[in-house]
Amino acid sequence: MSTPLTLIGLGPMGRAMVRTFLAQGHPVTVWNRTASRADALVEQGATRADTPAQAVEAAKVVLLSLTDYAAMHDVLDGVDLAGKTVVNLSSDTPDRTLKAAAWLAERGAELLVGGVMVPAPLVGADGAYVFYSGPKDVFEAHKDLLAAIGRPDYLGEDHTLAQLFYQAQLDCFLTALAGMLHSMALVKTAGVPAAAFAPYLRDNLDSISTYLDETVEHVDSGQHPGDLANVIMMGATADHVVGASESTGLDTALPKAVQSLYRRAVEAGRGRDSWTALYEVINGRS
Ligand code: NDP
Repeated sequence: MSTPLTLIGLGPMGRAMVRTFLAQGHPVTVWNRTASRADALVEQGATRADTPAQAVEAAKVVLLSLTDYAAMHDVLDGVDLAGKTVVNLSSDTPDRTLKAAAWLAERGAELLVGGVMVPAPLVGADGAYVFYSGPKDVFEAHKDLLAAIGRPDYLGEDHTLAQLFYQAQLDCFLTALAGMLHSMALVKTAGVPAAAFAPYLRDNLDSISTYLDETVEHVDSGQHPGDLANVIMMGATADHVVGASESTGLDTALPKAVQSLYRRAVEAGRGRDSWTALYEVINGRS
């Protein structure tokens, strides 16, 4: 079924979403602060709105793909939002998301929060998925339309859930990406190109998910048994990574953050526990 929608925010993500909705036969009205970003989409069949108010007027469902929630206020402040469903697919903190839900409710609109879990080229592709949270009836009413951009995974009525899941995924992703760059920098100090190190790094990255099941058991039970890779041994290695970074002149912020977790776990008497005991330090419980 074809459903008209409005999409505001035409960065890489917004543009990919518009193309996907158009390809599936949905009429899309677009608005973007930098108007020229809409040109190619208009050629592909989207309708350009001249103002945010005109864009919102055009459809009941208004998708936002903006840098953050502050941008939502910049764009929608003063616009009549009564009766609209705002699906905000922008990243931000749970706190700001809750405030936005209240702000929209005061204006007679409902908020469905979304977190898109793929980069722009994969929007709408097999395996793409999007976290949603907010009123269940609102999600149910729009899930078929939203399925165009990725499998809709509904997490619950609490607006912050989709944002929390999104940030949790990015927490792991961003840290791993920074770690990958840091380890490449380390071998580069010996003149080794990243390409020569890549096969080993790939093997390492692939192996990380094999730790998941045991880690989940430890985290959920609060028990961290294990003498194969305990906190003392892993912490000594974390010291060596910091030492190698210092002696080669690399930035040490990232390895020092990891070293700090191990040191505090040792100080808390968890030296003989599995490295997963770091979780208790992160959680403020050790
Ligand atoms: P960009 O930051 O490139 O684009 C954001 C859009 O927000 C642009 O259209 C920009 O307008 C608009 N914008 C920003 N600030 C304002 C403002 N104050 N007033 C009006 N418009 C504003 O983001 P992406 O398209 O890459 O991503 C959109 C969202 O999706 C982000 O929250 C991001 O975290 C999330 N996301 C991104 C992924 C990615 O791989 N890129 C993957 C998954 C999620 P203008 O064109 O005028 O600058």
